Amino acid sequence: MRQYLLPENGNFYKANLHVHTTVSDGTTTPEETKAGYKSHGYSVVAFTDHEVFVPQNQLTDEDFVAINAVELAINDGWPGGFKYNKSTHLNLYAKDPAKKDCAVCSGKFVWLEQSKPYISEAAANNNYRKHYSVAAYNDLIRKAKADGFLVCYNHPVWSLHNYSDYSGMQGLWGVEVYNTGSARGGMEDTVQPFEDLLNQGQHLVPVAADDAHSLSSSAYGGWTMIKADRLEYGAIMDALERGDCYSSNGPEIKELYIEDGVVHMTTSEAVFVRLVTSLRYKHVQHGSEEEPVTEVSFDINPFIEGEKECRAMRTAPWFRLEVKDKAGNHAWTRAFFLDELK
Ligand SMILES: [Zn+2]
Ligand SMILES: [Zn+2]
Repeated sequence: MRQYLLPENGNFYKANLHVHTTVSDGTTTPEETKAGYKSHGYSVVAFTDHEVFVPQNQLTDEDFVAINAVELAINDGWPGGFKYNKSTHLNLYAKDPAKKDCAVCSGKFVWLEQSKPYISEAAANNNYRKHYSVAAYNDLIRKAKADGFLVCYNHPVWSLHNYSDYSGMQGLWGVEVYNTGSARGGMEDTVQPFEDLLNQGQHLVPVAADDAHSLSSSAYGGWTMIKADRLEYGAIMDALERGDCYSSNGPEIKELYIEDGVVHMTTSEAVFVRLVTSLRYKHVQHGSEEEPVTEVSFDINPFIEGEKECRAMRTAPWFRLEVKDKAGNHAWTRAFFLDELK
């Protein structure tokens, strides 16, 4: 039986899930930001200004969805100033466009003068406190989820994070594996935090996003392709929540399904495709610049059967795929846990 891992039907919509505008420390207004992304073929942008949740529904039209969002920062308070601080950043995406406020957004944490006029009355009266610890992030994530948000863990490398800073985080929807601003600033992310959290049983979407503060220097470098039946706020958020998407900074994934234990994927021209699992069971398929591959298949029956017989699984078993093109850019699927297979 064929099971589609990216939906068979629907359309792909190109999304940037991380951007800053003049509402915080970005250089373009929300309107200019929308115009820039639309002209580069994007249909969806999540407006993630720092600390203030400011709905941008007026930007949504029949060709464009503005996702209402906010980026929250938690500094570790190490003495010496910001450049010495580890800083955990979480993006919160509202599932319901009618949502006006956010349960974990307090106006007391707004540090940018230009953002202060955007502090809502609810945020001004919100005493929710953030704290630099995994236990406190988990409280924030739990409350944000209960309030109707998906939560993404942003740019671990820029944050100066290692395993101890994120191990044990629970309830996240996604984690950034590529952040254009960080990468162009010499702090390119890796898949390590994504895989470490998968190995703790967390179902996660890998996110490639711009974190653009300027459309001329940090935009259009990493994106998420969302497969949904229509371009409408609720349909886009439902698709994201289900994980009907992949992320990329170059290659395209056209089709992905599993049939009789064999994973099939169709892509744009690739020089390297790998199937990664939670075990020491990986597959690679090589192409070359002269003879790129566009269709790959990986038999994972031994992985599936082995896991059925295994009496002491170290982790809930999962697999994911990664594509590399000749320019060295990647596309990342989400991880599929074996218990999702029919
Ligand atoms: Zn950030
Ligand atoms: Zn940001």
